[in-house]
Amino acid sequence: MNRSTSEQLYQEALQHIVGGVNSPSRSFKAVGGGAPVFMKRASGAHFWDEDNNRYIDYLAAYGPIITGHAHPHITAAITQAAENGILYGTPTHLEIKLAKMLKEAIPSMDKVRFVNSGTEAVMTTIRVARAYTKRNKIIKFAGCYHGHSDLVLVAAGSGPSTLGIPDSAGIPVSLAQEVITVPFNDLDGLREALATWGDDVAAVMVEPIVGNFGMVMPKPGFLEGLCKQARDNGSLVIYDEVITAFRFHYGSTQTYAGLDNHEDITPDLTALGKIIGGGLPIGAYGGRKHVMEQVAPLGPAYQAGTMAGNPASISAGIACLEVLSAEGVYEEMERLAITLTEGLQASADRHGIPLTINRIRGAFSTHFCNHPVTDYEEAQDTDGEMFASFFRHMLNRGINLAPSKYEAWFLTTAHSDADIAATLEAAEASFAAMAA
Ligand code: PLP
Repeated sequence: MNRSTSEQLYQEALQHIVGGVNSPSRSFKAVGGGAPVFMKRASGAHFWDEDNNRYIDYLAAYGPIITGHAHPHITAAITQAAENGILYGTPTHLEIKLAKMLKEAIPSMDKVRFVNSGTEAVMTTIRVARAYTKRNKIIKFAGCYHGHSDLVLVAAGSGPSTLGIPDSAGIPVSLAQEVITVPFNDLDGLREALATWGDDVAAVMVEPIVGNFGMVMPKPGFLEGLCKQARDNGSLVIYDEVITAFRFHYGSTQTYAGLDNHEDITPDLTALGKIIGGGLPIGAYGGRKHVMEQVAPLGPAYQAGTMAGNPASISAGIACLEVLSAEGVYEEMERLAITLTEGLQASADRHGIPLTINRIRGAFSTHFCNHPVTDYEEAQDTDGEMFASFFRHMLNRGINLAPSKYEAWFLTTAHSDADIAATLEAAEASFAAMAA
C-alpha cells in the first residue's frame, strides 16, 4: 500500500507541530514508530487517506464516533447550528434539552454541567468532591486513564498504601502525593489504602468498566464493594464514564444490566465526554444535587468555560443520542462484534498466535497473551511487539486500529457484515504472515 503522501506530510508536520501530532496517542511510537496515516475523508465505517487508500475504521476517534463518520443526522444538526451562529456566550434551550436527555439516561445525575473535554469533566469532579468533603486525597486504580490533568497523571507507588509518583514531567511530587493508586478489581488493596489514608480521602475514582488498558469488566461485586468502602469512609464515589456512557447501551455503566451487582453501585459524581458530543468537543459532569451545588455560581467550587455548552457540540450530542435511542442499535453492534471476535479468535488459534479477547457488547480489546486480562498488570504482561506487527499487517490490508496494545476496537452503527467479513479476511492473512 502506497502511503508516500502521509510520509511527506508527517515530515512537514514534524517541523511545525510538536511530535507531528496533536495528541500523543496518534503517533506510531508504540507500534514501532514512523509516519502515522494522514486521513483526508471519512464516511460511515470508512476512512480514505491522502493517497486515496481506503480503510475500515475501528478507532472511531477513540470512541466518540459511535454512529460512524459523517452520520447524516449529526451532520445536519451541526450545519443547522453553524447557520444559527456557532457561539453565543449565553444560555440556550439546547443545553437544557441535552441535560434532560443525560439525566433521563443516567438518573444519578440530578444536576449537570457541560464542559469541553473528558479531561475537564474529570478534573472538575475531583474539585467538587474536595470542596464537598473538605478532604484532599483521591484514590484511583492503576491503568485507568482519566485525562491529562495533573492530579490523575500519577502512577502507582510500590503498593496500595504508598502515595503516587508523577507519571509526567511537570507535575510536582507534592501534588502526586495527593493520589493513591490501587490495582483495579482489588477490594483488599482499596481497604488497605483507606485504612492508611482514609481520613483524608475525598473520593474514590474509577472507570467502572475499563476502556484504557483494554476493555476490562469489574469482577462481580467489585463496584458494590468499592461504593460501600468509600461511603463507609465518608468519601465520594466518582465514575469516569467518558468512554463507557452510551457505549454499551443507552445509558451508562451504573445502569447497565450486564453487570452482576445486586446492591447499589450508584456514584455521587459522574464524568462524561466523547459520545455525548457526537464527535465535537464536549465533556459533562453531574451528580447528586447537594454535591453539585458546590459548583459556582451556587457554591464555592469555581469552574467556567468560554466554549462550554456551545450550540454546535450540544446539537451534535443531541443528534447522536437520538440515533442511539433507536430500537436495536446496540444489539446490532453486539451482533457484529460477536462475529468479528469469534472469527479473530478462531483465526489466531489456527495460526498458533496467543490471543485473549475481552468483549463487552460492541467494543473489545485484543491482548496477545494466553492469560485473562482483569487488571493493568495482566494487560501490561502481553506481547507488545506482536501487537505492533498485527497492527501494521492490518493497516497494510486496509484496517485502521488504534496504534496501542491497550486501546479498544469500537464497532459503530455504520459497520456492516461486509466490513466484518473483509476485516476477518485481513486478520487471517495477517496472522498467517505473523506465524510464517
Ligand atoms: N476519561 C477517560 C476514561 C478517557 O478514556 C479519556 C480519554 O480518552 C478521558 C477521560 C479524557 O477525555 P478527553 O480526551 O476528552 O480530554
